[in-house]
Amino acid sequence: MSTNLKHKIENSKEKQNRHKAMEAIKVINSLKEDFKSPIESMNYFYELFEDVYCKNKSLHSDKLKVGTMCIQIPSEIIYALDAVPIRLCNGFYTDDEIGSDFMPQKSCPLVRATVGQFSSKNFNDMPDLIYSPTTCDQKTKAGVTIESFGYEVNDVDFPRIKESEISREYFRRSIRNFSIDLSKKTGKKLKKSDLKKSISKIGYAQSLYHNLCDYRKHSDVVIGGNDVFLITNAFFFDKIDNWINAVEKLLEECKKRKEEKISINAKVAPRIVYTGSPPIFPNYKVPLLIEQSDGIIVADETCSANRMFNDRVAVDEWFINDMLDSLADKYLKACTCPIFTRNDDRIRRIIELVKSYSADGVVYQSFAGCTVYEAEQKSVLEAMEKAGIPILYIESDYSPSQGGQLSTRIEAFIESLKTRRRTKK
Ligand code: SF4
Ligand code: SF4
Repeated sequence: MSTNLKHKIENSKEKQNRHKAMEAIKVINSLKEDFKSPIESMNYFYELFEDVYCKNKSLHSDKLKVGTMCIQIPSEIIYALDAVPIRLCNGFYTDDEIGSDFMPQKSCPLVRATVGQFSSKNFNDMPDLIYSPTTCDQKTKAGVTIESFGYEVNDVDFPRIKESEISREYFRRSIRNFSIDLSKKTGKKLKKSDLKKSISKIGYAQSLYHNLCDYRKHSDVVIGGNDVFLITNAFFFDKIDNWINAVEKLLEECKKRKEEKISINAKVAPRIVYTGSPPIFPNYKVPLLIEQSDGIIVADETCSANRMFNDRVAVDEWFINDMLDSLADKYLKACTCPIFTRNDDRIRRIIELVKSYSADGVVYQSFAGCTVYEAEQKSVLEAMEKAGIPILYIESDYSPSQGGQLSTRIEAFIESLKTRRRTKK
């Protein structure tokens, strides 16, 4: 490569990093400053995101990094092989713009941003291996595009029918193959004791998340929905032990706040369940607007938060193949992504969340270009109407230009929920 070309690439990388740092810090500052009574323990997460996205700090230079294109790759297996999982879903507009040169105009911004990041090879922790489950069409095709940049992308078969026995067996076989392949590539043998240990560690992390969610059920809400998205997004890439310690500390603070009846918002703030295309840092455009408009996100049904921590792995016999099968079952069963033919579980889960978190309404975000979330909109809207639950459907993307129009719709929805509450009394 000529020195000139090298300079050009480095300069453009610097420029991208600057833009990404600006996107990141804007959201971090909003989280720190926009809401009253901020939680002190959140500082760990704010600093983590500043380190990674503003200072480009590597967290795993001593470890083999396994990039995963979606939530269906069991982290438990990766940890058991002494590697670290890094979820590659990307929320940066800077990367989305770069990726739009390689993906169709009408594609999902999340997928475009992931492709964009690979095309510019701009990572704080570059994945050594990449695994891509064949989930939605765009993710599947993105793998091929990423390969054209010189990476090896390993496909992991994923079924599109959730309920059938054939799918269950198919995914079990797929996960066994994944573990064999990863074991070969890492040069490590998958040991029973290590897998058992990592299943229990992830299970513990899940239980912490659920404890945190319990605090969101009360009328004095001690933590905002955007902060919770930040915590769960950190799970994509953070050192798991650090994440666990930080959430344990946060829970202690939540307990204290509950005892002292400290709430981050007024009791009249409408309570929202968030569903649809996942908010991924720093694309918190819609969730931030909700909370800046006096709503409070008390629960979510998305793959960047709640869906990652649903359902524990249920193991009967602690032998390797039994554990692998149980992992496959858990990852398939817990997934409520609209990639499946039928997805009644998703509707059931949203209604259940509305009830258990005493929510006033649902906000459903679909990324422009995501056909499956768009397609599922109709059945979800009908089901909510039948259940008497107000719902707002929003199509959004990563561009910063949509703000005004979105905020008008969100504010109007929040106001309508307030009126509804008043008239119900
Ligand atoms: S929306 Fe669905 S396909 Fe996309 S990352 Fe989430 S679970 Fe995977
Ligand atoms: S939002 Fe839609 S297109 Fe994008 S990753 Fe998820 S399912 Fe795929």
